[in-house]
Amino acid sequence: MRDEAPLAGREPLIDAHAHFYHSASGRGDWERVNAARLRAGDRIGITYHVASVLGSYGHTSPTYFPSPADVSVGNDAMAEFALDPRIRWYVTVNPNYPDHALAEIQRGVERGAIGVKLLASRRADDPLLDPVCEAAAVHGLPILHHIWQHRTCEWPSQEISDGRDLARLADRHPRVAFILAHLGGGGDWAHTPPAIRDVPNVYPDLSGSGVDRGMLDSALRILGARRLLWACDLTMETGLAKLRALDAVGLSVAEIADIRWRNAARLFARGVFPRCERVETAPPAAVA
Ligand SMILES: [Zn+2]
Repeated sequence: MRDEAPLAGREPLIDAHAHFYHSASGRGDWERVNAARLRAGDRIGITYHVASVLGSYGHTSPTYFPSPADVSVGNDAMAEFALDPRIRWYVTVNPNYPDHALAEIQRGVERGAIGVKLLASRRADDPLLDPVCEAAAVHGLPILHHIWQHRTCEWPSQEISDGRDLARLADRHPRVAFILAHLGGGGDWAHTPPAIRDVPNVYPDLSGSGVDRGMLDSALRILGARRLLWACDLTMETGLAKLRALDAVGLSVAEIADIRWRNAARLFARGVFPRCERVETAPPAAVA
């Protein structure tokens, strides 16, 4: 097979918001879906998938309100996946079970988790999240928080949060980096950048299937390239589309590198992405 250059080039690339399935997630094709993610990642040129497992994905307890048992089974599966050198992981917790959430963070850290994943289990500014954030601060773990872009009403089966809710939480926990999930994931993305502009420890990821004209431009204008993280979530093709767009919206090479991987490398603990740092510190290629 010929050595094809990755579709998004050879510069390091970190997907800060990925998911994997497992045998208890109710999908007979879970291994095939996981393999497809890694295959697509290799083709695109993803250096690291920073991923989580969301309990049983609704199979044996609700997706956004996973039972403690399902949370633990999912995290066990995720820790195994992360033995692959391309994968890093967030430990998922449900803050409605505070003792279990804290024990799970401890267990996750011992098994190599580099961040915490919070679903729509509890509104982001609820005090129940404070102990989770304090544990994240102690361990130096960024928190990836599920967000709906502009919360205008209640939605069934989830405690919905938006940029303003997350900003209030982040304001209470200035030592923690909060990754605001999927700017392109649905709702009114234009609401989010102004809502978090003045809270510097909130970093939107660009994932989600939305690729609306103007979304990246607006986020860049209001927040700047140092606040944004590239990511895919479920749809990797729109992740690739956004990389193409980043090349076309007038960013410098350094700003593109910030969004592709450097911001992630700054937020997470030092040394957790050695394959990126190797590229970064490699001497320039000799000119033939
Ligand atoms: Zn997600």
